[in-house]
Amino acid sequence: MAESPYWNPRYETLPRADLERLQLYKLQRMARWAWERSPFMRRRFEQAGFHPDQLRTLDDRRRIPFLTKQEWMDEQARRPLFGELLANAPEHAIAYHTTSGTSGRTPLRVLDSPRDWNWISEMWAYGFWGFGVRPADIVYLAFGYGTFIGFWGAHYCCQKIGALTIASGGMTSEGRVKQLVELGATTVCLTPTYALRLLQVARELGIDLARDSRVDKLVLSGEPGANIPAVRRLIEEGWGARCSDMAGMTEIGTIMIFQCRDSADSTHIIEDHFLEEVINPQTGEPVGYGEVGERVVTSFGRAFIPLLRYRSGDLVVRVPHTDCRCGRTFDLYKGGIIGRVDDMKVIRGTNVFPSAVEAIVREHAEIDEFQIVLTREEGIRDEITVVCELRPDCEHLWPEVQPRLAKALADGHENLRFNVERAARGQLPRFELKARRLVDRREYVR
Ligand SMILES: [Zn+2]
Repeated sequence: MAESPYWNPRYETLPRADLERLQLYKLQRMARWAWERSPFMRRRFEQAGFHPDQLRTLDDRRRIPFLTKQEWMDEQARRPLFGELLANAPEHAIAYHTTSGTSGRTPLRVLDSPRDWNWISEMWAYGFWGFGVRPADIVYLAFGYGTFIGFWGAHYCCQKIGALTIASGGMTSEGRVKQLVELGATTVCLTPTYALRLLQVARELGIDLARDSRVDKLVLSGEPGANIPAVRRLIEEGWGARCSDMAGMTEIGTIMIFQCRDSADSTHIIEDHFLEEVINPQTGEPVGYGEVGERVVTSFGRAFIPLLRYRSGDLVVRVPHTDCRCGRTFDLYKGGIIGRVDDMKVIRGTNVFPSAVEAIVREHAEIDEFQIVLTREEGIRDEITVVCELRPDCEHLWPEVQPRLAKALADGHENLRFNVERAARGQLPRFELKARRLVDRREYVR
């Protein structure tokens, strides 16, 4: 019998009407569980005038109040360690994990039951199997193995599939490069930034990862990058491997979207385990296929901390499942997660996302570094300017690059006019990890 391309053939190809019936059933069950078991959730439901019995159709989900990260953090601070979020007694937990907490603030704290963990690895398995990871693969997990959730679920998913896992916690980048080559890893899990970093480290060691390693698959997660075409090209060429973009969040402990083998730039939503909505972040109203909006997630799998209608802050563009030819009936996010709501800027009525601008700029190989500058002219008119530094060998091409970039930016933003200016060599800041290329000089008078 031919091997299935799907981890869960029945559910991944379920007709949409059946899928929606399944989602309604799971939503009713999860809402009741939250109501009965989590005092925090019940209090919020009551304040919003919502009762689980009101869920008769999938549209009734809109009666459930949105949950924000701020509410969760406030509740955690009110009653450390976990607030009254838990739907189970802490002694039933088997794992503790947190957000990465990069900003130095208190991290979001999460507990998991055995059932949660089984489900977490199951979600990763949809993605890993769909990307082509098989029992014969040797999977190298390049992350810290600390309390940050990271690739923990991916680790257990590989063991579930039957692939060999290599845990590289506590190792240096040099050590990791040498080890993954020596042990013949075929698949590597890491962030896009770290994929670029390891390429650099390998070069310094005289190792060409495309030639000297057996790696043919990279699972990229944790930040955007795999969905930025130019970044993806750099990684794929350097490693001589294909990338799959998989995105998750600490609040659910696992991934909710993955890129299958047939899709060039989009990620399937695991719809039999998540109810994903896309809303206008300002009004909270749903937006349609093809429109940018904020993801709102309801997870059917996590039981210890039930998550219903959680505002993710991620910006996405949802498109129908028919956009991919793999046969899955799960809808897609075009280009994965394209940015954060906090990053969105409104220029003369048009929404501008720095990540979308970057994607366009990166298509112009002559540009070495850039900066987006927002200004307010004569106190009323907002202007957006992209300041570019050219590669030394391309400086003479500016008269041709300038209009080409200006047109590409306008085409990508409902004909919004962008100013494109040139910076002197070395004038713009360079970044190691998280780049800050947007400067907002507008004065806000309200
Ligand atoms: Zn597909």
